[in-house]
Amino acid sequence: MPPPEADDRDTPLLLKLRERIRRNGPLSLDAYMQACIGDPEHGYWRRRDTIGAAGDFVTAPEISQIFGELIGLWCVVTWQQLGSPKPVRLIELGPGRGTLMRDALRAARKVPGFLEAATVHLVEISSALREAQREMLATLPDLPSITWHEAIDGVPEGPAIIVANEFLDALPIRQLVHVDGAWHERVVGLDAQDALTFADGEKVAGPARAPTQPEPGAIIEVREGEELLLAELAARHGPLVALFIDYGPAVATVGDTLQAVRRHGYVDPLPAPGTADLTAHVLFAELARKAQAAGLAADGPVTQAEFLGRLGIAERATRLMAANPAKAAQIEAGVQRLMAPTGMGQLFKVLAVRSRTLPAPVPFG
Ligand code: SAH
Repeated sequence: MPPPEADDRDTPLLLKLRERIRRNGPLSLDAYMQACIGDPEHGYWRRRDTIGAAGDFVTAPEISQIFGELIGLWCVVTWQQLGSPKPVRLIELGPGRGTLMRDALRAARKVPGFLEAATVHLVEISSALREAQREMLATLPDLPSITWHEAIDGVPEGPAIIVANEFLDALPIRQLVHVDGAWHERVVGLDAQDALTFADGEKVAGPARAPTQPEPGAIIEVREGEELLLAELAARHGPLVALFIDYGPAVATVGDTLQAVRRHGYVDPLPAPGTADLTAHVLFAELARKAQAAGLAADGPVTQAEFLGRLGIAERATRLMAANPAKAAQIEAGVQRLMAPTGMGQLFKVLAVRSRTLPAPVPFG
């Protein structure tokens, strides 16, 4: 008999969370998300085969090699704008299967000097994905030195270029819900049948950007991991440029954007904790504001289509198709998906964050 689907029975993490809620009361949403993705035994990021066609979701570098290649060339140009420092720290946050870094390094190798100057630093919490990254990068000839880190504060000082694709969306969020004239923490508790359910928790202060006259039930999302990360960037010695690519609106918004994805479809985030990818929109206007508050500068956001267009995706696709006629249709389909005006091309945004002393990086300047 085939094993039951994860959602046909209580997951081990559900049993654990029930106990925890019975003992300590309901969980704030960020604590729930943290448990779902980071639980040492049953968390989602303990698993390896989550990204890609055979997994739960597909990301830009998995769609087309051109994505990582353009980012690799962007890293080289940014390094030159920094004055070609040696060493330079090339840092990726949440590298997934390592595909983006593989494609980026392969493209960057063609420019003399960069890889000799670069040390590569992968910030990854998942040991399963670290292993996948190691295998993926081992396929490259003349590897630069690569080290893995739990968090960015473990990366040595010095000039840094940082890339993060679909990293911020995975950082847990809190939700505040407006009921009876006040903001309340949105929490995960237990219903009469002992199933997980959303509830309104304690009263909390609304953030400064909260609307003055919210509709009853209005939801505001808060991602404190962004402040922590930006503070760590601001504390680094040496100039830095960081590229954040993610999905979410360019302008400030309110509303519930929590989503759970399994096998390329949306699922309920509550019944089977630990078995789906839990993410929420990145609020780019907020991210830019937080970067400035941390003492950094921000450029953008621009849409992914605009960013890749300005970096020359069309020219690169034409050349790659000419060199691989048998794969031309596949290459073109991948590029169209990355650029789609009703899909990734518009929904995904790119924001650069940099030291204030530096000029805006390409293609923002
Ligand atoms: N950038 C990749 C993967 C995106 S999925 C791609 O585009 O395909 C999110 C990645 O971030 C995974 O590698 C996950 O393990 C990692 N991750 C999530 N939370 C993290 C955290 N707090 N610290 C470090 N890595 C984290």
